[in-house]
Amino acid sequence: MRIIDLRSDTVTVPTPAMREAMARAEVGDDVYGEDPTVIRLEEMAAARMGKEAGLLCVSGTMANQVAVMTHTRRGDEVILEEEAHIYYYEAGALAVLSGVQPRLVKGQRGMMDPDDLARAIRPSNIHYPPPRLLCLENTHNRAGGTVMTPALTRVLADVAHERGLAVHLDGARIFNAAVHLGCDPRELAAPADSVMFCLSKGLAAPVGSVLCGSREFIERARRNRKIVGGGMRQAGVIAAAGVVALETMVDRLAEDHAHARLLADLLSEDPLFRVDRETVQTNIVLCWLTRGDAFAYVRRLAARGVKVNATGPDRIRLVTHKDVARADIEEAAAIMKEEAGRFA
Ligand SMILES: *Cc1c(COP(=O)(O)O)cnc(C)c1O
Repeated sequence: MRIIDLRSDTVTVPTPAMREAMARAEVGDDVYGEDPTVIRLEEMAAARMGKEAGLLCVSGTMANQVAVMTHTRRGDEVILEEEAHIYYYEAGALAVLSGVQPRLVKGQRGMMDPDDLARAIRPSNIHYPPPRLLCLENTHNRAGGTVMTPALTRVLADVAHERGLAVHLDGARIFNAAVHLGCDPRELAAPADSVMFCLSKGLAAPVGSVLCGSREFIERARRNRKIVGGGMRQAGVIAAAGVVALETMVDRLAEDHAHARLLADLLSEDPLFRVDRETVQTNIVLCWLTRGDAFAYVRRLAARGVKVNATGPDRIRLVTHKDVARADIEEAAAIMKEEAGRFA
């Protein structure tokens, strides 16, 4: 049975060009700063983000949490949108690694209102934890891959900076945002002090995320990466795939976005599904079942070769990526309709 895997863009496998580059990669001990391929990837990544320096991390979670560790001290407050990945999906790392307290701000499709943000940042008072960091997310994962414009990013960062907070951008899928807007990712990253993006999602590299920021920030982050066990040795083997990802996999994300819109259109033809098409801006489709249980539905689809994730009792998430073609999207939609129809 052919599997159509729409659980995440993290399931993408490396391209033949990546395998080739990995096999041929020039390597050295990166903890000694001697891996030329890692250095090349970090420099490329920093240039793409418009920052001075980059730091290759094992995962997006590591890159985000190393950023928080580097921006904060124990007992500080970190402000996040209420469904931010850093808060929602990183296994409590804010508390475990940095000992910081999250303060959550309700968003609209993942975007905070600047006035709500301003109200959430409390003035200095012996009773309050010092607010130290604002975390933003673009695209927003839980909101369905929604895109934050450079203008809103700037306004929110200004609110934080005026009050003495630093700004970290969780840009796991920042290239999807840039492709959707037709802008340079540097415009999205410019208002933030640090930014991280994933090589291992739509860009299809096997491993890796890069944290970018000022030279001084990355120097301190490098030490924090060591603390969490992220000092790697001949990491050029994985960095080589990252270089190919940045060189060849960014522009094709537009195809994933077109496939997501197609999937949203096909599903919304059927009253068994409710899709908020306004949020289908990049490669994620959130879909509510009007009947039946999402977890049972996911099991039935898996038995037919269509893999999706339930992200709530009546909600499923579908993610398009390079390893699903247009024909797969059409087939998956047909199977999804058939199986949803069985919840009488
Ligand atoms: C996937 C993701 C991450 C974390 O990446 P991992 O490599 O899975 O740890 C962080 N933030 C957002 C918004 C993501 O979508």
